[in-house]
Amino acid sequence: MRLTFLLRQLAPTLVLLGAAANAQAQARRPVIDVHLHAFDLAWFKVVGEQQPVTMCEGGFSPPMLERFPSLGECRGAMRSPTTEKALVDSTMAALDRYNVIGVTSGPRATVARWRSLNPRRILPAVGYLASPDSARLWAADTAVRALGEMTWQYDGMSATDSLPSAWFALAEQLDLPIGVHMGFGGAGAPFGMSPAYRMALSNPLQLEPILVRHPKLRVWVMHAGWPMLDQMVGLLETYPQVYVDVSAIDWFIPRAEFHAYLRRLVQAGFANRIMFGSDQMVWPAAIGRAIDAIESAPFLTARDKRDIFCRNAVRFFRLQSSLGDAC
Ligand SMILES: [Zn+2]
Repeated sequence: MRLTFLLRQLAPTLVLLGAAANAQAQARRPVIDVHLHAFDLAWFKVVGEQQPVTMCEGGFSPPMLERFPSLGECRGAMRSPTTEKALVDSTMAALDRYNVIGVTSGPRATVARWRSLNPRRILPAVGYLASPDSARLWAADTAVRALGEMTWQYDGMSATDSLPSAWFALAEQLDLPIGVHMGFGGAGAPFGMSPAYRMALSNPLQLEPILVRHPKLRVWVMHAGWPMLDQMVGLLETYPQVYVDVSAIDWFIPRAEFHAYLRRLVQAGFANRIMFGSDQMVWPAAIGRAIDAIESAPFLTARDKRDIFCRNAVRFFRLQSSLGDAC
């Protein structure tokens, strides 16, 4: 009874607060997240149905910490929701809150379901799970905007091996951008779920023969190839068609390390080819943390931030110009 009374008293305030939050989202310039995932929580379930999936800063899970105490402790842990519905609801809430439009990859059915829930915010991408042939069919019948995330180094393949080569040829044929995972594999990756993963296969310079072979290809290097900074700068300098995203490194490595890496890319003159990404997998809070990592970078100008959050992606993905005006 008392609760009902209290709620009745608070109702006008709650309505006003809700309206204010909506107005804030509307007022925010759009953010394009070029690296969003629509994954099923079931994929990640390694510790039992009711447990959240935990990711520690540095990209490892608590079981890896048991195996390698040298990892230190689990700092800055992200914990997933524990139901599929909560994962979808909280991800959609984060997209609304920050006015995000996401280039989204994952299993086809999951991406389609997310898109049907929020077509304005979910732009489908064809992930590496599909074969190039099934990707062709998928791309033909939906509003697919990109191919990626391509993650062949987790299967021990290099960018120039035959399967990756077939993907690059497909991207050129379909005239779609292709996003390639480059950089870290997560601490202890070869001893966990990815025994074939090799860090050496994540050198951005592995893309060089592909870029020469397909000069019109729109390639973006995901995670900006962290921590291969000199190689990344070299690739950007030599191949003006290459863009990068800063996904994952904007929330799961120490903030100071991310800022040092980003600062060098900007200092080297590439602020107009860096795109925002979250790499949100099953941790919706990563979206806000990643946005804050850009907002809080003291060396970025207001113009750099608008470029990174939105304008570079509008140009690279050839999104509608009205969106570019809103950036
Ligand atoms: Zn990745």
